[in-house]
Amino acid sequence: MSALKQNTVVGVIGAGAMGAGIAQVAAQAGHQVKLYDNREGVAQTAIDSMARQLAKLVERKKFTAGQVQQILARLEVANSLNDLADAGLVVEAIVEKIDVKKAIFDTLESVCSADCILASNTSSISITRLASGMKHPERMVGMHFFNPAPIMKLVEVVSGLATDSDVAACVYETALNWGKKPVYATSTPGFIVNRVARPFYAESFRLRQEQVADCATLDALLKGAGGFRMGAFELTDMIGHDVNYAVTCSVFDAYYGDFRFQPSLIQKDLVDAGFLGRKTGQGFYSYQ
Ligand code: NAD
Repeated sequence: MSALKQNTVVGVIGAGAMGAGIAQVAAQAGHQVKLYDNREGVAQTAIDSMARQLAKLVERKKFTAGQVQQILARLEVANSLNDLADAGLVVEAIVEKIDVKKAIFDTLESVCSADCILASNTSSISITRLASGMKHPERMVGMHFFNPAPIMKLVEVVSGLATDSDVAACVYETALNWGKKPVYATSTPGFIVNRVARPFYAESFRLRQEQVADCATLDALLKGAGGFRMGAFELTDMIGHDVNYAVTCSVFDAYYGDFRFQPSLIQKDLVDAGFLGRKTGQGFYSYQ
């Protein structure tokens, strides 16, 4: 199956770190994009922030002012899910909770046309479970971007048991057209990257908990000697501890409590304190 046509409207739900980035990627690729967030004003704030980021890219000569104007003209705020009725693809990027995501897809099925592809940017939740009970489970697929979405090339295209292979192929081809490097994956907990990354985070957090060294030393070692692009502490501060912790809990539960995926108490403390990382100004590091 071929990629989405450029005149296909793309809906994005959730205007947080990931939804805003995905909306930008789709708008840069030429789609009209409707961005919805259930917190009032958040979608507009995300578009305003994108405008500031894109203006910096004009200064750095990555885009012309005219191109940025066109990209921004393709981005609009959706005031409700009903506004997504004309979308050909909807990408959900809301909180990592299965019940909340299922409620969204339930509503989308009654709003969108039967051939609209419904995609989730979930990091860990089973696409098979998300699709179960849907009228058209074959159009449900994982389209898993990485943070920051406008920069990171990888997109995992995740198929659940009921996903139509043509739907996965369309999302794969579309991601290619959007300048990404997609990879097919079947729906297992954490898919590929998030599963491999769990023990990386867990072991780093254990080192910290046992006071082997401070966060900065561990991050520097992982980068310098280990060859990682970011250490576990700066990376999870960027991802957001609420998101990262929820993903670990989801993978841990899905593997029946396998110790390799056990959530970290020091990360739970950060979540409990509201120290969610860069987005709140405090995580393992301070950003005040
Ligand atoms: P975030 O907290 O930055 O943003 C989530 C947004 O969703 C918020 O603005 C919130 O208001 C909105 N929202 C919550 N419930 C909603 C609802 N019912 N309807 C509409 N909007 C709602 O989270 P994020 O980091 O962007 O993560 C979103 C999703 O993307 C999660 O499933 C996460 O696992 C996944 N993901 C995150 C990363 C990452 O590095 N942060 C990377 C890949 C995938």
